[in-house]
Amino acid sequence: MPRIVQHPKRTLWVQSYCPEAIRGLFTTLKHFLRGLLRYETLPTIPYPDIKPPIPPNYRGKHRLLKRADGTPRCVACGMCAAACPAKCIRVDAKESQDGLVEKMAARFEIDHLACVFCGLCVEACPVDAIRMDTGITSFVHSSREEFLVNMEELLEGKPATVAN
Ligand code: SF4
Ligand code: SF4
Repeated sequence: MPRIVQHPKRTLWVQSYCPEAIRGLFTTLKHFLRGLLRYETLPTIPYPDIKPPIPPNYRGKHRLLKRADGTPRCVACGMCAAACPAKCIRVDAKESQDGLVEKMAARFEIDHLACVFCGLCVEACPVDAIRMDTGITSFVHSSREEFLVNMEELLEGKPATVAN
């Protein structure tokens, strides 16, 4: 059975759209004055002056871990580079002299301009040598080359609970 929808009667005043236009202007004025006079009550954060809290498991800039003796934990297996969908990890291997492992990294680089911060490299690593727990989620450089992070810099990375 068809249902008849009753539309409210519109007066000439309502039909002119003036009431809604005035209501909209008051809403705009209200938010404008709130931003001007009570800035701290706004539901926004004045980034980058104040940074939002970052969850501890949020994927940030990479770091390479060291063994207890200070040598890199990475065994240059290349699993992270193979798993990387952006192909932004480069690992060159060399023979290890310590007798504990067969290989070690002669060169390890990550291009953070190409990285999509998916975390697959961390998942792929068989020896837990790479993590993304530095808490550094925003980094700015003045040249493209500076986004290419080498092994020394990666080994200097600290977990967020210590560094930040
Ligand atoms: S986070 Fe993803 S894209 Fe970035 S280096 Fe690791 S695997 Fe590659
Ligand atoms: S970081 Fe891990 S997965 Fe990548 S080369 Fe080193 S040991 Fe292999």
